[in-house]
Amino acid sequence: MGNIRVRFAPSPTGNLHLGSARTALYNWLFAKHHGGDFIVRIEDTDFLRSAPEFEQSILEDLSWLGLNYDEGPGKGGFGPYRQSRRLSLYKSKAKQLVADGKAYYCYCGEQSKVDSVNKKTCNCLGLDGRDQLDASAKGVNPAIRFRVPKEKIVIDDIVYGPTEFDTANIKDFIILRGNGMPTFHLSVVVDDAEMKISHVIRGNDHLPNTPKHILLFKALGYDIPKFAHHSLIMGSDGGKLSKRHGATAVFQYREAGYLHEAVINYLALLSWTPAGEQEIFKPEELMQYFSLEKLSKSPAIFDIGKLNWINGQHIRSYPLEELTQMAIPFLAKDEVKKVSREWLIKMVEATRDDYITLADAKVQSELFFKPLKITKEAKQWLEKDTSKAVLAKLVEVLGASRVDNNDEARAVLKSLSKEMKEQGIKGKDVFMPVRCALTGKTEGPELFYIFVLFGKQKSIKRIESAAKVG
Ligand code: GLU
Repeated sequence: MGNIRVRFAPSPTGNLHLGSARTALYNWLFAKHHGGDFIVRIEDTDFLRSAPEFEQSILEDLSWLGLNYDEGPGKGGFGPYRQSRRLSLYKSKAKQLVADGKAYYCYCGEQSKVDSVNKKTCNCLGLDGRDQLDASAKGVNPAIRFRVPKEKIVIDDIVYGPTEFDTANIKDFIILRGNGMPTFHLSVVVDDAEMKISHVIRGNDHLPNTPKHILLFKALGYDIPKFAHHSLIMGSDGGKLSKRHGATAVFQYREAGYLHEAVINYLALLSWTPAGEQEIFKPEELMQYFSLEKLSKSPAIFDIGKLNWINGQHIRSYPLEELTQMAIPFLAKDEVKKVSREWLIKMVEATRDDYITLADAKVQSELFFKPLKITKEAKQWLEKDTSKAVLAKLVEVLGASRVDNNDEARAVLKSLSKEMKEQGIKGKDVFMPVRCALTGKTEGPELFYIFVLFGKQKSIKRIESAAKVG
């Protein structure tokens, strides 16, 4: 393949949506797989809806996802990378098409008959110079309308295969509005050509636009890039993924404690099935294996359960210290201040198996920071006669031991279970009262961790007060 250059072209009219992030990801993976360039172009010609805050947040989200661009705002030799800075280029291309007889001035404004009735060509095509002058004299700023030639167009789409369009069904369309602003069709074609884009990878909602784009590429004498249209993400009800299905913006996942590599892993798998059984991929692995040809044509159904599972897998693949560092922003600041780094690492070690997102570090840490609250089930355990004996013995054993590390804490449990066995109490009857006394719950981290994290004094205090229950 020649020089691979692909682009992600967001309109800054909202935050980065998961669907757009997936488009960006496929472009980025394809570029990186082939050693090509990933370009970000801001399509901000809709002045009413575009906002710099959205551009900023889209760029931040891309950066958080690790989808760094080779060219884009502030970087690269084919700029400017904001369409609002390229208006004169679009205008000159539209005028060139008029001069070549491939487009014409249209004085109909918003009420063109072409758009409202079943008519392919606007009457403005027939206006001679005098009529045009008359219209201009009335203060009408003409739009420029592309004159759609009659032909059959075949898009050799990398995902969908050859797809034929008959231009007899395409009306002459506006490429430059009366106010001098280009329509999407013109700006996207001019930019893709001028920026030497080799492959246009975008959602299949753009497939109906592609024949128009191909006509414009040809009319302007440009090379035509290759196209790959991917399927869209749907909610579980089959409708396009939207707010009514839950969080759709990338930043919401970041704030909820998802890892960027998990989001990327999940988005990649939404339409792409790698060979083999592997489901957890690091970004470099995705880059290595990704291919557009393997993208599915069917809509991708968003499944939060799968994303959660993938996130948990990535979380547990991190070394403890790094994971602790990542979890700290999700913990309560005043509580983090009270404990040592070693303690935090131990707490993460004890609880990480139950993390779906990093925010679960906070949920799990509450056991250690909040006062003891005993559940109904735990209370039932604590009320048993055998439990009273277990807890009395535990206070005794703990008093004579240290629980500064896992081994010491394990030794306490071992000697407790040995002593209780002699009294005919074993298994759950030993460990459940200990757990319930320390945590107030019937499930949670391994017991030895709890001893280490509470320390000897607090452990004894909790056990003594729990022994009074019932
Ligand atoms: N700005 C367009 C969009 O957000 C880009 C379309 C394209 O990739 O050509 O849908």
